Amino acid sequence: MKRRNFIKAGAVGLASPILLAGKKKIKVNKNNPIVISTWLHGIPANEVSFKILNKNGSALDAVEAGVRIAEADAENQSVGLGGRPDSEGNVTLDACIMDSNGNAGAVGFLENIKHPISVARKVMEETDHVMLAGKGALKFALSNGFKSENLLTKASRKGWLEWKKDNRIKDSWGPNDDHDTITSLAQDNDGNLSGACTTSGLAYKLQGRVGDSPIIGAGMYVDNEVGAAGATGMGELVMKTCGSFLVVELMRQGYSAMEACNEAIDRIIRQEGGKTKLQVGYIALEKDGSVGYSSIQKGFQYALYKDGVNKLHDVKSIF
Ligand code: ASP
Repeated sequence: MKRRNFIKAGAVGLASPILLAGKKKIKVNKNNPIVISTWLHGIPANEVSFKILNKNGSALDAVEAGVRIAEADAENQSVGLGGRPDSEGNVTLDACIMDSNGNAGAVGFLENIKHPISVARKVMEETDHVMLAGKGALKFALSNGFKSENLLTKASRKGWLEWKKDNRIKDSWGPNDDHDTITSLAQDNDGNLSGACTTSGLAYKLQGRVGDSPIIGAGMYVDNEVGAAGATGMGELVMKTCGSFLVVELMRQGYSAMEACNEAIDRIIRQEGGKTKLQVGYIALEKDGSVGYSSIQKGFQYALYKDGVNKLHDVKSIF
């Protein structure tokens, strides 16, 4: 159903969204693996993911392995090792992962562990919980064989010390530089979907701040019947609109991946009273293999590996 018809249907009252849910017939894309990831660091992540998918690996293994590349990259100052710290100089990491069976795992406010995404996967696979945070998450990671290490690199420490001298410069480290949260969505040969999202969050945030990235349905969401979506940018705006869940749910109700991303961005802008200087970007991967993307401001990029080509694309902003 086209967006306009959907809105019309919605206007007649109770009839609509629920009745529409699930009515859309989606062709499943099989034997044609796809990975889509946020930002430039999505390119090397996609490479690793695609190798796994090409060997008939699962979408879950693919997204985990892909984002681990960004987490281990000390030069990347927005994910894992080398991430920009909070206002007190602590690198605190958020991540979540979701598989094609609706299983989910997440960690928030995790310190000293380079690969939060793999801890999130352990939470998903080894516990009855979805999310562990802070000291408990660290304890869980250490008891599962993860190594404790200092994640604050010289470069990130230097940036933090400069910010402390004059914290007005924090505006130049907004969520729109080309090293940001990595969210990665993949579809494997069987047509199954999975997603992963990992970040050090906003630079110089208040201690204890947790963003959208580890929140299932905000930073990332997978519904294997319909599609997957993920976010980057100002997490507070994403959380307040349940962003990734919204994108997936709109696809369930008939929006294309692109229409769903645009509507979710539009929802934020409306909630912000029609304008905002902040950035949010969404990516989406529908079960039929089509992709969507949208952002509030210009500058957002996504990396798409499809039909044997891994390419970085610029997103036209809403503003
Ligand atoms: N979404 C992340 C957060 O708010 C940061 C980002 O993507 O820039 O923590």
